[in-house]
Amino acid sequence: MSAQIIDGKAIAALVKDQVKVDVAAFTAAFGVVPGLVVVLCGDDPASQVYTKNKVKTCQELGMRSELHHLPVSTTQEELMALVQKLNADKAVHGILVQLPLYKHLHEGPILLAIDPDKDVDGFHPINVGRLWTDQEGLFPCTPVGSLELVKSTGVSLAGKHAVVVGRSNIVGKPMAALLLKQSCTVTVAHSKTADLAALCRTADILVAAVGRPKILTKDFIKPGAIVIDVGINRLADGKLCGDVDFEGAKEVAGFITPVPGGVGPMTIALLMKNTLAAAKRQGI
Ligand code: NAP
Repeated sequence: MSAQIIDGKAIAALVKDQVKVDVAAFTAAFGVVPGLVVVLCGDDPASQVYTKNKVKTCQELGMRSELHHLPVSTTQEELMALVQKLNADKAVHGILVQLPLYKHLHEGPILLAIDPDKDVDGFHPINVGRLWTDQEGLFPCTPVGSLELVKSTGVSLAGKHAVVVGRSNIVGKPMAALLLKQSCTVTVAHSKTADLAALCRTADILVAAVGRPKILTKDFIKPGAIVIDVGINRLADGKLCGDVDFEGAKEVAGFITPVPGGVGPMTIALLMKNTLAAAKRQGI
């Protein structure tokens, strides 16, 4: 039997509709329009598209947003100074520094300099700590969006075995923390994991965040599993595909996300939610 397709585009649209309603209510109550500043200091064409989309979506939902596209000559000190200025600006509730940066800039100190309550990407160590210690905070958009997709299946999560393939700071690790919070039993796999296929076949929930096209074939899937494919890979013919071999996996899985149209749209929707949450956190 073929898996149910999890429609990330439709679920993201619902999230954005709700954010729009909540932004209007927040602005009416406090006379404040949530504001996001996106800083782009790179020449990656994909980043240029992503940042423009973020700004545009913010505006569509009734928030203020602007893009600072900095030249390649920008120094670490100038970028730090901009972050400090945005930290101090009361009209700016969310700051997002788009990665990757130009090669001569160091992302660690920049991300550390962002006020944790304006850190809409959820990458600051304070927010990482808040996530792992069950406190309120701003958490990374892609894993939070992925969890929403898992929840959309209606399957009870407590006690389920979740395998997260990938241990990056932006996807794999926070995804593991979020699933643990749902009382899943979580295993994190990576490039040194022995017999990945056998491990994945024990997963009731399988999250792929690897960055290798179609590496997880149908032999990696437990019948009936929830499969969330975070991967975005461009093939030689220009088409996008995930880390999961969708055509094969959907014959075995119970639920599966497509690429595109799965996790991708959720990331931007959750960024919108985080921007409003950041405005609320700043105690206006
Ligand atoms: P990353 O930092 O490169 O991490 C990849 C992870 O995969 C690493 O932990 C690596 O293990 C592991 N890995 C690599 N090869 C493996 C293999 N053969 N078997 C098992 N594990 C393997 O990537 P990322 O930033 O987490 O992103 C992962 C994917 O998600 C990419 O395709 C990216 O484009 C996509 N992504 C999508 C969104 C979205 O909005 N949909 C957002 C962010 C990222 P080691 O740690 O051992 O090296």
